[in-house]
Amino acid sequence: MLVFKFGGASVKDAAGIINLGKVVSLYTDKQLLIVVSAMGKTTNALEKLTKAYVSGADDLHDIYEEIKQYHYNIIGELFDANDPVFNEVANTFVEIDWMIEDEPHDDYDFIYDQVVSVGELVSTRIVNAYLNKTGLKSQWLDVRGYIHTDNNYREGTVQWDKTRESIKKDIPALLAKGIVVTQGFLGGTSENFTTTLGREGSDYTASILASSLGAESVTTWKDVPGILNADPKLFKDTVKFDELSYTEAIEMTYYGATVIHPKTIKPLQNAKIPLLVKAFTNPDAPGTIIKEDGRNHFEKPVIILKQNQVLLSLSAKDYSFISEDHLSEIFRLFAQSHVKINMMQTSALSFTVCFDFDEERFNKLLKLLSESFKAKYNHNLTLITTRHYTPESFKKLTEGKVVLLEQVSRNTAQVVVR
Ligand code: ASP
Ligand code: MG
Repeated sequence: MLVFKFGGASVKDAAGIINLGKVVSLYTDKQLLIVVSAMGKTTNALEKLTKAYVSGADDLHDIYEEIKQYHYNIIGELFDANDPVFNEVANTFVEIDWMIEDEPHDDYDFIYDQVVSVGELVSTRIVNAYLNKTGLKSQWLDVRGYIHTDNNYREGTVQWDKTRESIKKDIPALLAKGIVVTQGFLGGTSENFTTTLGREGSDYTASILASSLGAESVTTWKDVPGILNADPKLFKDTVKFDELSYTEAIEMTYYGATVIHPKTIKPLQNAKIPLLVKAFTNPDAPGTIIKEDGRNHFEKPVIILKQNQVLLSLSAKDYSFISEDHLSEIFRLFAQSHVKINMMQTSALSFTVCFDFDEERFNKLLKLLSESFKAKYNHNLTLITTRHYTPESFKKLTEGKVVLLEQVSRNTAQVVVR
């Protein structure tokens, strides 16, 4: 049995869905479980919609109409006007229709998950209908009944035992009947509310399903030929890795390589399931394979950029040294606010920390920290991480840039720059 994951870029328009059908048709000799993300930039658009709803913005309905129209245009190209898929899609959007009629009473993160999840619910309806239309027998599965999480909205923690049990109980029989199409990124709580697993979490979904079912492999189909040493949109002369070990892939994703979600690899490593990263435009090309004995061959250093970073410096209000007590209070507040630290450094009088900027969470955190600390911060920074660097390559990366923070170890060098 194979698990395939198709990300947003692979299903961003009608041509993408047609191409997905072609890729899938190459593998019909196997049982297939297909995990699909929201189409194109839908998740970003739904995030915008959530913000507009919660803040009572005037353009709420315009934002929503645009999201709907985008999906209707795609199905308009793929299906006849009387196809049941139009109703399926409309029924899926109804959840949002109802919600935005009322005032937003609930917690932001809760609302976010109920709204944003519609992206995957709709995309999978469309993909499933399209596969059936082309004669590939396919079944739509609501993943929220299988991936069980706690109610930590926007970053649901998977309850592994319960999840594995549910998956193993039902899904093998479905796979024996035909292709199964399901949502990436989503989970469900014990009260049947929707959770999400963190942005770009569809890879993680594929990994949860594959490891629970003992799949032969997972393939994520991308708009790049495999895992490259750097983002080809930002750097020229990138090279592709043919193989990587699980450990190297974990390190790369930990530092922010967006090609795979960081939580994806570990479950696959435990279950000894290889992960292939391949181009959806070139399914016959080998791509990159990540496996236990993957050979790490670094012809060029790995470069990982994380944009939209904040650098926050904290000092005690009474000018005392930064002590273990201060640090433990700071970490407690970061954990409570669900803000993950990307890099940190202590000095006598201050503690400096770099993390992803998320307005909602940042404001909450800053308020909490400001009760005990003086805080200074800079927005709009970039964190550059390079692994297996040479002194020359590191120097070239930072040339002409204002370096605000730097940390260098044998394998990995990190700088925060403006
Ligand atoms: N659609 C979600 C996101 O854009 C999940 C994913 O694409 O993996 O974050
Ligand atoms: Mg995506």
